[in-house]
Amino acid sequence: MKVLLASGNAHKAEEFAELFDSEIIQVQAASEKIDVIEDGETFFANARKKAEAYFKKYNKPVMADDSGLVVEALPDELGLYSARFGGEGLTDKQRAELLLEKMKGVEVRSAYFICVLCFYLSAEEVYFFEGRMDGVIGDEYKGEFGFGYDPVFIPVHHEGDDTLAMIPKWKKENSHRSQACVAAQSFFNRQN
Ligand code: IMP
Repeated sequence: MKVLLASGNAHKAEEFAELFDSEIIQVQAASEKIDVIEDGETFFANARKKAEAYFKKYNKPVMADDSGLVVEALPDELGLYSARFGGEGLTDKQRAELLLEKMKGVEVRSAYFICVLCFYLSAEEVYFFEGRMDGVIGDEYKGEFGFGYDPVFIPVHHEGDDTLAMIPKWKKENSHRSQACVAAQSFFNRQN
């Protein structure tokens, strides 16, 4: 199955291409980015909104993703708003450092990354898949791989206290994104 990625980001398309078996799902980057306002109340609503916008423009099967970091101690600040945490114009590093600052002295440090994929194959055929990765927010910025909040997130299912930014191979196999891709792939594989 070929799907158009509801994003103008070629890097994201490459990342998904690495996570899927191309015999089952092939992801193509869209030639033009569409600006979609992500004002849904859930990750599902935002993923669907992006997918629908690209489907309407390109009239082809589309896959959209929406992801974020949910922090138990800061329920209204990250989550759906992870990309905008702290306001517009901050770098990834500044956002991760702001999170560390806000978590200073906070005992409840649990958090999880979530990824929702929406496959919009036609107006009648829309499928969702979800992946999650549990962890805790560390107390220092560590590691040089990855992006976003990786340097301050310590996954619970990896031994020790390495942040995601220190274990790129483990992340690729176990991330929220990878788990959502595995779920989608096994579903579409069963359909064939
Ligand atoms: P998007 O909606 O998928 O573009 O991502 C929303 C935000 O969540 C990003 O800007 C990142 O800050 C954060 N995020 C999502 N996935 C990851 C990840 O795998 N590592 C670190 N940060 C992530």
